[in-house]
Amino acid sequence: MSKKQPPSVGFVSLGCPKATVDSEQILTRLRADGYIVAPTYAGADLVVVNTCGFIDAAVEESLAAIGEALAENGRVIVTGCLGAKGSIVTDNHPQVLAVTGPHAAAEVMLAVHAHLPPPLGRTGDPRLDLVPPQGVRLTPEHFAYLKISEGCNHRCSFCVIPALRGDLVSRPLAEVMREAETLVDAGVRELLVISQDTSAYGVDLKHRTGFWNGRPMKTRLLELCQALGDLGVWVRLHYVYPYPSVDELIPLMAAGKILPYLDVPLQHANRRILKAMRRPADAEDNLARIESWRRLCPEITLRSTFITGFPGETEAEFEELLDFLEAAQLDRVGAFAYSPVDGAAANALPGALPEAVREERRARLMEFQEDISTRRLEAKIGRLIEVLVDEVDEEGALARSQGDAPEIDGLVYVTNGHQLEVGDLVQVRVTDCDVHDLIAVCAAGES
Ligand code: SF4
Repeated sequence: MSKKQPPSVGFVSLGCPKATVDSEQILTRLRADGYIVAPTYAGADLVVVNTCGFIDAAVEESLAAIGEALAENGRVIVTGCLGAKGSIVTDNHPQVLAVTGPHAAAEVMLAVHAHLPPPLGRTGDPRLDLVPPQGVRLTPEHFAYLKISEGCNHRCSFCVIPALRGDLVSRPLAEVMREAETLVDAGVRELLVISQDTSAYGVDLKHRTGFWNGRPMKTRLLELCQALGDLGVWVRLHYVYPYPSVDELIPLMAAGKILPYLDVPLQHANRRILKAMRRPADAEDNLARIESWRRLCPEITLRSTFITGFPGETEAEFEELLDFLEAAQLDRVGAFAYSPVDGAAANALPGALPEAVREERRARLMEFQEDISTRRLEAKIGRLIEVLVDEVDEEGALARSQGDAPEIDGLVYVTNGHQLEVGDLVQVRVTDCDVHDLIAVCAAGES
């Protein structure tokens, strides 16, 4: 008698690393409940689509993905940020089985159970199933995202994340550390700390004291970084706003406890625009702060993102941003032309700029920064650096330095790295660079 196949669910994951973590949680629960994850639409009994709704292009991509899943499979559950945007999903695709917002694994599972009952009616006991202790992950085995909080207490005028994901809710320190330790035990060599506002970790809990390894510890980013720094892996911080408290983290970087890397989304340099954007830390002197970080930790890599063509931005205000970039000498910069997001307060501001101007300023900013980034990479030529290997093929190894986050920064091509293995941490000598990437050779055997 042939054995009945377990029910199978297809999964489409779109959006940012925070959405990836939501997908991992849903996939982990699906596995715990006995479902298998189907690699194709045709092989799935139903499909879950985790959407992004941040900017117009992401909304279109998400709606197209839902349309494709409906055409190929027909039974679709939608989750994620787009699901929190009123009736946009059901207006466009009334046939979907259910819609939830982001960070809603429990609701998604209820919808899955309703439309595709779990085998033997079993739910939620991972001990009975083959779920790895670290859960199901969508990143390679050697790095993982570690989400420390959900939501955001700020109300930046261009952003609808607080409306989609709610106010800040920090995870207890011991829970974050348990997850980090489990990931490291499973072979992870790099933890990427993410949230909407990493510097605000624990504010909602009034930095209450938790316990880790029998020691009392405040629920605060500094204490969390100290504990993560004891795990012996790369710890990289994303989405850190330049509050004065961030200064306390720099000595940990200088001491090699966490990576000398900060992803600080500054968005602009002009005070008036920052105020109109309602940015956190809008009154900080970011230049002075950056200089003091570099004094304490000369190795630090600084990454930031900026918005060009915000409503009312004058040519002089834009040029102030270019002057800031010249003075700040950031290592990595991303820029977005302002895009009016449905429901964002900034849409009502006077002085909306034509798309061509917003785009032209973005292109000008990127061209301006290109020289700075290249010069900073050129300064590494001849130096010995540590890299983490991501891939190995016939051309050598593709790796990343401590200054390169996966997917958003550059790579290090190790031309003689054929014998290396994915996840290896090795010393290489930098021989050349281009605008984004470094070329290097293994340093083993160098005298
Ligand atoms: S800090 Fe601002 S941009 Fe970031 S999630 Fe919060 S409201 Fe949005």
